[in-house]
Amino acid sequence: MKEINPNLNVKVLFEVVDTAPSETIEINGVKYQRSLKNTGKINNNFNDYMEILDYFKAIDNVDYLIRFQSEFNKQPYIYPIVKKLIEKQDDISKILDPKYKNLRVRVACPFCGLADKNSLTTKFVGENIYSYCPEHGEYITNIKNQSDKLEYNTPVRNLVRAIAYGMHNMDENQEYQIMRITGSDYAGFYQEELLYKPAALLGFPVNNLPSILYTPLVLDWSGAKLSKSLYVKEGDYSDLPAYLINYEYLKNSKGIEALDVIHNITDEWIEKPYLLFRNYSIYYFKKEFEEYEKSNIHQHKTKVYKKD
Ligand SMILES: [Zn+2]
Repeated sequence: MKEINPNLNVKVLFEVVDTAPSETIEINGVKYQRSLKNTGKINNNFNDYMEILDYFKAIDNVDYLIRFQSEFNKQPYIYPIVKKLIEKQDDISKILDPKYKNLRVRVACPFCGLADKNSLTTKFVGENIYSYCPEHGEYITNIKNQSDKLEYNTPVRNLVRAIAYGMHNMDENQEYQIMRITGSDYAGFYQEELLYKPAALLGFPVNNLPSILYTPLVLDWSGAKLSKSLYVKEGDYSDLPAYLINYEYLKNSKGIEALDVIHNITDEWIEKPYLLFRNYSIYYFKKEFEEYEKSNIHQHKTKVYKKD
């Protein structure tokens, strides 16, 4: 976009889901979770993300912003969306939570951080959310004044985000428009059933939802999406060189400049868009890294790169 129009102020907004579950425990038949933010695990790899973003920023001269869920939820768009969700909770819950049929909006206990994962004990009345902690009892959250406290499960978050971006784009006071970029595992049935139909049910004009660009997926040998949790929790993918699945290994064994391989691949997707509308096996990346190793001409695009 910036190459076409250098005056355009393009930025990457990295929306961090720090409210994703980090630990789950069951108390009296109710599943409670602690978020990545609450356990502090969000910080484990955050510097790596920043380093990669800084590296690509130096190559492309495109700046990035980072937004955590509490900042996202502080936006004035969130209150009317969640209010509508509560009004229509019976219709929406059936679609977005066919198993429990609950509105999967939650608030962590202000004392211990536990949150009722499946909203089994959570009640939504008017503009208030009544949550229950097995240790600290009931606590009430007002969706208008305390929207920054809200957490959602994936389908609800997907819906709230899309509508909030849509409202942002329609807001004449905003200086920029949002185009959403997300993995193509969300494309197709998921969005049709869990985004567009529920958005229409909430009364939001579907034609004003943001454009979504779906990125290719990286697939394992079986054609499944390469899974972080399989690698981290189950120790899978032992047949793959570690540098392909773990940034730390990539950096230590090949140097940070090896990120050029990924940048070159994705750069080509933009130049030849037919390369964008497909998926890639992890072995495709392996081959590209091997060719990079072979060529001794490591012409790094990033002479300006410095990490302070
Ligand atoms: Zn508590």
